[in-house]
Amino acid sequence: MVLSDSIVFYNTRTRSKEVFRPVNAGEVGIYTCGPTVYGPMHIGNVRSQLSADLLRRFLVSEGFAVTHVINITDVGHLVSDADEGEDKMELAAKRAGETAEEIAGRYIDLWRRDRQAVNCIEPEHNPKATDHIAEQIDLGLKLEEGGYLYRIDDGIYFDISRFPRYTELARLDLEGQSGAGRIDEVQGKRQPADFAIWKFADPDERRLQEWDSPWGRGFPGWHLECSAMSSRYLGDHFDIHTGGIDLATVHHTNEVAQSECAFGVHPWVEYWLHNEFLDFGGEKMSKSKGNVKTLSDLEERGYDPLAFRYFFLQAHYRQQQVFTEESMEAAARGHSRLVALAAEVRQVGGEGDSAAQAPFREQFRAAMADDLNAPKAVAVLWDVLRSKTLSKVDQRDLLLAFDEVLGLDLAHAEPKREQFESDPRIDALLEEREAARGRKDFAEADRIRDALASEGIELIDTPEGPRWRRG
Ligand code: AMP
Ligand code: ZN
Repeated sequence: MVLSDSIVFYNTRTRSKEVFRPVNAGEVGIYTCGPTVYGPMHIGNVRSQLSADLLRRFLVSEGFAVTHVINITDVGHLVSDADEGEDKMELAAKRAGETAEEIAGRYIDLWRRDRQAVNCIEPEHNPKATDHIAEQIDLGLKLEEGGYLYRIDDGIYFDISRFPRYTELARLDLEGQSGAGRIDEVQGKRQPADFAIWKFADPDERRLQEWDSPWGRGFPGWHLECSAMSSRYLGDHFDIHTGGIDLATVHHTNEVAQSECAFGVHPWVEYWLHNEFLDFGGEKMSKSKGNVKTLSDLEERGYDPLAFRYFFLQAHYRQQQVFTEESMEAAARGHSRLVALAAEVRQVGGEGDSAAQAPFREQFRAAMADDLNAPKAVAVLWDVLRSKTLSKVDQRDLLLAFDEVLGLDLAHAEPKREQFESDPRIDALLEEREAARGRKDFAEADRIRDALASEGIELIDTPEGPRWRRG
């Protein structure tokens, strides 16, 4: 049953929470700006992937037929994010002494591996910009016919003065921003915010990636690919576009300008869902800066990638989330408790009681239907697992149903027993401590805990009783 009337999303386009109404009943098209594949994705980029995956999973659980498109940027994204500097792919390839395809291939594989590791569902379409040059040129030609483009020495540019709604999506104040470095100056541009549709190849320097076009040999501007590929796979008017909040001011603004002018639609995209940043204590982490923290870094330090997914679920996607050692460690502990409880309730067989489950299902759905409130939804999951009234069978049913949306793979995840240690002396002290707690001698229990802590031993409560490991 599709209950779309009661789903609400915060839409960047209107700056308000709106009831979700799909363009075509029962179907949803989602476009997500994907990676620029010249380096590994950092865990901030993973947050962006997870936000889109959560959206997708929730809409599927609501009965929608979802078509999800995530592009791969393997050409055209210049170092400055606007229209200046070298192409990130070209630069990385030259530095590594490899072809752009080799670099792209390697980081596409890594991106797919990371997405699988955090249990993101494969999108229906995962198109590469370099496989859609013809579509991009076609879109450019449509814009040219409409009189939106002009030629300067280094390329073909979109004239934003031809599109009065240019500032709408990101509520831009172009007067205030033009001098503030939002866009780099390129000689000959009519307005600072005008952007390249096609850049000419330098005739004196052969690029690794260049194509013929009606305007001359060169390569497409970065923004063009998302308009061209979304239209190819989702049509000229679709439901939801996602991406990190940083993309709204330039990339998404330019996508809207191109698409609305080329396709003659408004709005081109009904709902814009932007995830906030994962924050690293004030330091902007970026592939181009080289200070990247990846999922592999976390795994090397013993974290399960799904513990990072659990970490992600602790914050609403529209709130900044701060990544610290402590918060990751706390999430990892919560995640392993959850996995242990899941493994336990999975053992039980039999039929559940749908009436007993109903209020929890409603609470969970209400949390998710309110602009994907994952922290609240996770709290409902914990209420289920801590409930004194629900049977284990009901706990099992609810846990597995909720996890279809949360994506923690609780149907299969196994507790990592090896993370706990064993030693006859310490095991005996743990037993003594349990006995002390049993007879309510908390002073003695605390004394044993403190003595162990002074040896660097951490106690962990598990469903099978207390365990320990060296901190
Ligand atoms: P990129 O590969 O740099 O083009 O970025 C891919 C996606 O990750 C985009 O949607 C960005 O907006 C998003 N993104 C980049 N940095 C962060 C961050 N620290 N936190 C959350 N999302 C991010
Ligand atoms: Zn895009």
